[in-house]
Amino acid sequence: MNIKTLTRPTNFAQEILKDIIHKGDVVVDATMGNGHDTLFLANMVGEDGRVFSFDIQDLAIENTKRLLQENKIENVCLIQDGHENMDQYIKEEVCAIIFNLGYLPKGDHEIVTKAHTTISALQKSLTLLKKEGLTIMVIYPGHEEGEVEKERILKFTKNLDSTTYHVFEISYTNQNKKPPMILGIIKK
Ligand code: SAM
Repeated sequence: MNIKTLTRPTNFAQEILKDIIHKGDVVVDATMGNGHDTLFLANMVGEDGRVFSFDIQDLAIENTKRLLQENKIENVCLIQDGHENMDQYIKEEVCAIIFNLGYLPKGDHEIVTKAHTTISALQKSLTLLKKEGLTIMVIYPGHEEGEVEKERILKFTKNLDSTTYHVFEISYTNQNKKPPMILGIIKK
């Protein structure tokens, strides 16, 4: 791991996933955005694996479709729906789920992930996770909705049964007053 990986939460989250995901696995990108995490996941699971990616915005679907075509990736199922409905589309156990919360970079900053749908999606992700699978979230409390979302997520995860889950946090504590953080939940 290099310094750039350590200093960027999205890169750090991907680095953690590298040791969890294997060829042939089924994984989820709960917030597709511009498709960077989806592309990463698709390469990790290879042709025999599958990625389910969710976003509510047309722009995210368009940008991700283009990125995948440019990289000749065909093992991804792009779903234009909220991640809170993931259980309607995924009927098998999954190895890893990533959430990169907030708004689409270079997109409409009014369209953000919201605490109640994020918690609902998080609950569903934990049901879908296989044993020793990981749900990982990159959380940005720097905007108003993000702060509420972070508090709700931390409250929810702190109360998860410790006989079933390990929960860990990585915080960038000195960046500003509301720095981004990574939160991981491992199913035992
Ligand atoms: N992972 C992305 C990437 O690699 O480019 C960036 C994700 S961006 C920070 C957050 C995305 O979450 C936005 O594209 C937004 O439209 C999406 N979003 C907001 N609410 C959502 C929901 N309920 N379900 C799924 N996606 C949602």
